[in-house]
Amino acid sequence: MKIAVAKGDGIGPEIMDAVLRIFDAAKVPLEYTFVDMGKWVFDKGFSNGMTPEAKHTIEDLGILFKGPMETPKGKGVKSVNVTARKTWNTYANKRVFQTLHGVDTVFSKAGIPIDITIVRENIEDTYGGIEHMLTQDVALSRRFITRPGSLQVIKYAFEMAKKNGARRITCGHKANIMKLTDGLFLECFQEVAKEYPELRSDDIIVDDLAMKLVVRPQDFDVVVLTNLQGDIISDLCAGLVGGLGFAPSANIGDHIAIFEAVHGTAPDIAGKNIANPTALLLSGISMLRHLGLMENAAIVENALLYTLEQGVHTGDFGDKNTPALNTTAFAEVIIGNFGKTPEHMARPLLPNAPVTQTAFKLSRNEMMVSEETQQEIIVGVDMFIESSGQPEFIAKKCQRHAGVKFNLINISNRGTQVWPTGSVYTNLVNQYNVRFESIDGSPLTQQDVLGLYVSLSGDFRICSSELLNMWGERKGYSLAQGQ
Ligand code: NAD
Repeated sequence: MKIAVAKGDGIGPEIMDAVLRIFDAAKVPLEYTFVDMGKWVFDKGFSNGMTPEAKHTIEDLGILFKGPMETPKGKGVKSVNVTARKTWNTYANKRVFQTLHGVDTVFSKAGIPIDITIVRENIEDTYGGIEHMLTQDVALSRRFITRPGSLQVIKYAFEMAKKNGARRITCGHKANIMKLTDGLFLECFQEVAKEYPELRSDDIIVDDLAMKLVVRPQDFDVVVLTNLQGDIISDLCAGLVGGLGFAPSANIGDHIAIFEAVHGTAPDIAGKNIANPTALLLSGISMLRHLGLMENAAIVENALLYTLEQGVHTGDFGDKNTPALNTTAFAEVIIGNFGKTPEHMARPLLPNAPVTQTAFKLSRNEMMVSEETQQEIIVGVDMFIESSGQPEFIAKKCQRHAGVKFNLINISNRGTQVWPTGSVYTNLVNQYNVRFESIDGSPLTQQDVLGLYVSLSGDFRICSSELLNMWGERKGYSLAQGQ
């Protein structure tokens, strides 16, 4: 079977060479097609960090094993790592954090075992990178959370939890504050949970989760989160098991999967042959399992675990009183330990499944859309305007534009209501959200809203606007703080 391999930047080539050397020695039945991705590809003028040939190869083969890649700074280009995950819709980012014997941490010293799998939504959230300056002082980021996108990753997490016999599956969220976005994610989690009554499922507010993961990490098993929260919580979990050098990552989609380490290109140690290849090796092992190469995966993982148990280490971890090995020597010790069984967490030698090329050509991508149960109606509009005036002054002007179809409901500044009631202690910036609703809740048309827009633009610069929609009794917008 062929897979695409991109060595990456910085320490990427060193750790990838070490891992492929281990795979070759373990007679892993894979052929590698090397593809051009990373900083040097940006530098050659390819604005998305990969050549068209690389894109074709990855789409043909369906599997990308990649080293870390650097995003050139200050050139306005997007991270090739994020582009790859989004372009190929690898919607679930699975990161497994397990106690590794020989890697000392506060928890291993206290005899507290850690075995946590974070499933992070990988496409949506603030990672859309959709940002605008509304005024010179005010930046806005759009955070997309969708029902189909949330269902995809949550279903993946439940299936994985069931297959692995998980004790518990937990949804981390901030739905107490972000009632519509995180609220939607949590609602999807609760819907899917009903289909898996055999699994213990629950939810937790993400800040509480962060605290509990540090205090009692052994209580958690599978945790599913939105993109940014998942990013932060997974680095916290990396810290629990010894740092980024031990954090593997699998980006799973329906057609294409990407395997990489969580850490970056480590420019401070690049080219010195001292980087720790463990995280990339663990990512490679999870790729072997994904491909059904169970026996190869177990042989390599047992050798790695045995090596760590013996106290063999690179410079970034382990006993400072024993000499650190360089990347190549560390890989050679692992190869020398093939066939040895670690004392802890030994993996059973299950047979390899027949290897088949998993990718297939998509001619078009179907729209992911939920069944429409109720028609939306427009009941108002939020106008985001630039002004350095005081709330009373803005209200007076805005009321003149409300006409016969709209009521001026409230004005907020940075999400806090400042009119009709508010506090003089609320600090103001030069951008207000002025909320107009229809008189008596009667439905409005887009033309009504445009009429208001034109009228209001005579007095204010309108930076942005959002329709206020209702689906039956359900409001499609949040209230301002204090409203
Ligand atoms: P980093 O992970 O590269 O380095 C953080 C620290 O950890 C450094 O001190 C580094 O020496 C150390 N470190 C990381 N991996 C190590 C390893 N395998 N062995 C030993 N020590 C290791 O994070 P950074 O410095 O914030 O980022 C550097 C670059 O990597 C940036 O350009 C960033 O965009 C990129 N990056 C890429 C990915 C990816 O490809 N998925 C992920 C994160 C960062």
